[in-house]
Amino acid sequence: MYDFLIIGQGIAGTLLAEELLANQQSVFIIDKYHPNSSSNIATGIVNPITGRKLVKSFMIDELLPICDEVYSTAEKKFNKKFIFHQSIYKLFSSQEDIAIWNKRKIDPEYTAYMSDIVYIKNEQVNNRLGAGIINNCFWLDVPLFIATYRNYFIENKLLLDEVFDFNELKIDNTIQYKNIEAKHIIFCEGYKAIENPLFNFIPFTTAKGEFLVFKSDELKLESILNKNFIVLPKGNNLYSIGSTFVWNDIEEVVTPSSKKELTDKLSKIVNCSYTIVEEKAGIRPTIKDRRPVIGCLPSHRNVHIFNGLGTKGVSLTPYFSKYLVQNLLHGQKIRNEVSINRFLDTKVI
Ligand SMILES: Cc1cc2nc3c(=O)[nH]c(=O)nc-3n(C[C@H](O)[C@H](O)[C@H](O)COP(=O)(O)OP(=O)(O)OC[C@H]3O[C@@H](n4cnc5c(N)ncnc54)[C@H](O)[C@@H]3O)c2cc1C
Repeated sequence: MYDFLIIGQGIAGTLLAEELLANQQSVFIIDKYHPNSSSNIATGIVNPITGRKLVKSFMIDELLPICDEVYSTAEKKFNKKFIFHQSIYKLFSSQEDIAIWNKRKIDPEYTAYMSDIVYIKNEQVNNRLGAGIINNCFWLDVPLFIATYRNYFIENKLLLDEVFDFNELKIDNTIQYKNIEAKHIIFCEGYKAIENPLFNFIPFTTAKGEFLVFKSDELKLESILNKNFIVLPKGNNLYSIGSTFVWNDIEEVVTPSSKKELTDKLSKIVNCSYTIVEEKAGIRPTIKDRRPVIGCLPSHRNVHIFNGLGTKGVSLTPYFSKYLVQNLLHGQKIRNEVSINRFLDTKVI
């Protein structure tokens, strides 16, 4: 009998499995490989300061050290490079933007993340009003990270590639699924959780995102640009731009309107010729209050969920997979803003 059966091997299922294994738990994963899963197409950027008002991301001070620890441990484990530290240049649109930047930058809570205003020395970038540099940013090559772990789980006979069939699930004191028996089951299905009959009380919304990859030999950009969308230099003259945001559309296909939106935005900030080499669409697993959801069913304390990572899976998952394991193994209480309790009439205590 396994200690934990995990459904889904996106970034949530992957890091949760890794943390459970590190705590000497036995784990088995069922995941249907999906090239367009959110994790398989995520740009992977961690930006600590977001939005026009330049507000710190949820819990970012606590999340970043755990990201460093978890992702650099994985790099050592597999002898591969997954993380790339790069500053983000926030391009200003107005004098008001600059005023917000200058006010925020002197707040002691923000000084680690924000530097002075600069003018980017690149003739291809429209930078009339300058840019504020956001520090402590990085991007994770999420598709490579997920694929590397997938191979590792398969080599160690810990993963079955198939669609999980709810008709085959029997929940009692233990979990029975076909010939697999486990003490607990944890659902990490990304946006597919909208089809999970056990957690249909959670107010999932979906947020479709599309991005493009283009090649330009002229641009020669070394840092990430941000002007309500991201231009990310990926090396070899390739750049990723995105992502769009469309609520409640679960068609994982690229659309001409999103392509136009992205290329129009791009043309406003760079002047260079380019060729589009890739277009992709995926669905972010989002909850109405934009917070993760963690916890078990009050009726079945061996049935758990780890989801709702929304637009921030890369920064949230390392911390919250450790956090969930502390709950599972040592009964650590789950803070209310991420707990399943916020959607339940009968609370899990
Ligand atoms: C265009 C785009 C850009 C993004 N950019 C960023 C970014 O820059 N930074 C950032 O932090 N986040 C970003 N995200 C968000 C990030 O991708 C998500 O937060 C994260 O990947 C969610 O991971 P997950 O493991 O919860 O879900 P998923 O990655 O969707 O993984 C779920 C897995 O479960 C499997 N599964 C589901 N149901 C079943 C079933 N019944 N049987 C078997 N398998 C099943 C799926 O096939 C999949 O493999 C982006 C997302 C999109 C779409």
